[in-house]
Amino acid sequence: MKKATIWFLTIIMALTFCGLLYLQIMYMKNIIRMRDDQFSEGVRRSLYSVSTTLEQDETRHFLEEDAAAIEQSIYSQLDASLPGKDALKYSFPKADNLDVKPLTERSGSKVNKDRYRNMQENIRGQYLYQKGLLNEVILNILSQSSNRPIVERADSATVAGYLHSEFENNGLNLPFEFAVVNRSGRVIYSSSGYEANHAGKNNMFVQTLFPNDPVSKMNYIKVYFPTKKDYIFSSVKFMIPSFIFTFILLVIFLYTIIIAFKQKRLTEMKNDFINNMTHEFKTPISSISLAAQMLNDDSVRKSPTMMQHIATVINDETKRLRFQVEKVLQMSMFDRQKATLRLQEIDANKAIANIVSTFKLKVESYGGKIESDLAAYDAIVEVDEMHFTNVIFNLLDNAVKYRREDEPLMLKVATADISGNRFEIRISDNGIGIKRDDLKKIFEKFYRVSTGNRHDVKGFGLGLAYVHKMVTELKGDIRVESELGIGTTFIIILPLTKN
Ligand code: ADP
Repeated sequence: MKKATIWFLTIIMALTFCGLLYLQIMYMKNIIRMRDDQFSEGVRRSLYSVSTTLEQDETRHFLEEDAAAIEQSIYSQLDASLPGKDALKYSFPKADNLDVKPLTERSGSKVNKDRYRNMQENIRGQYLYQKGLLNEVILNILSQSSNRPIVERADSATVAGYLHSEFENNGLNLPFEFAVVNRSGRVIYSSSGYEANHAGKNNMFVQTLFPNDPVSKMNYIKVYFPTKKDYIFSSVKFMIPSFIFTFILLVIFLYTIIIAFKQKRLTEMKNDFINNMTHEFKTPISSISLAAQMLNDDSVRKSPTMMQHIATVINDETKRLRFQVEKVLQMSMFDRQKATLRLQEIDANKAIANIVSTFKLKVESYGGKIESDLAAYDAIVEVDEMHFTNVIFNLLDNAVKYRREDEPLMLKVATADISGNRFEIRISDNGIGIKRDDLKKIFEKFYRVSTGNRHDVKGFGLGLAYVHKMVTELKGDIRVESELGIGTTFIIILPLTKN
């Protein structure tokens, strides 16, 4: 797949995800808003009902208060004129019509007629009297009610009870706190948990109590619901799995994209590797074939010095070829799950000293120097000697490959004891150094720093990957410290054998 195609797919997928997330968030927001509106509507309706009920209660209170007086006066006035209280009681509801005809019709005598006429007059007078009293009651309500203390007009228990039942009727079964406050905002009484500043923004509902009171004497009921948020959010809980699924999809998508880019890079690196390898093999092969052609020449065959020279060339080039093949073979290590190591206890100090002395010639041929400071007291490690030698050799080889042209090569190999039954090997050089960004990647398979691509410095990008793999297999650690243009130090830490 082309890089552009991967990018194109990434952008399309990213846009799709953003759209999907946007729609989900908008949908959730709408549900929350609708639920909030419904909730507020329910609360307002309940509070209005509570306020109306309290007004009705107050009217009833005044009526009941005056009913006793009315009843008393009716009885006292009718007692003298009427045949019995029962008659009054039964005719009272019909007072509006004042249709007392049947009574008149029933009696035949003139005396009876007069008597019932008197009674009719009495009832009419009584009706007007009651009407006057009722008017008085209404006037009382209008003029006196606002003078009564609010705690009498709407006591705390009644208000709480009304609120509770109204909220329940409207399906708002959640705890609430309330307070009755006067016009200046002073709390007259409140529920035990009421804390005005706990209500939160837009969560306090206010309803005027007794709206017909004069403005200066107005009282208000304030209500808030401490668990309103949870109540509202409970309606969108079902959206949570959809968010989780989207998130999982997003993670999988990102992971796939990363893998695609990694694969892409790996393919490019492999192509570079094949190009490099072909180039590396071509040079010794052509030198050897040239030498073989020369051997066919009689004059050459007759000259022992020429023969000697050709033999040296063939030998050197074969060595070079073998070394390259060895490097490529090392690559097969990576594809196996676990390398088969022939572990044996060796003295790392001794092994390193041998490698250094072998390497001395090579360093000196480049006009450089190699020093060793093998100070580790205990350096007995259990390793595969061949791989251990390869590791040290690869690092030394790199130090030579990536030397600075303007500075004589200075190489140092040191060992030292460290805590935790381990010891360290430091291989330092004064070469070209490695950029901070590249430091993280140099242990990756096929990775080569671009400067490493100088035509005279060839490689496969496998040396350090092999070193890292081997050190890890030996339960050790490797890290690198480097400064561009100053030098590089590779630090290997290996566990010592127990005894
Ligand atoms: P290569 O075959 O390219 O040498 P390596 O895996 O051995 O592959 O090294 C990876 C890269 O790390 C090299 O391309 C080189 O740029 C950088 N590198 C390794 N060792 C050194 C060093 N001692 N000094 C500077 N750069 C180094």
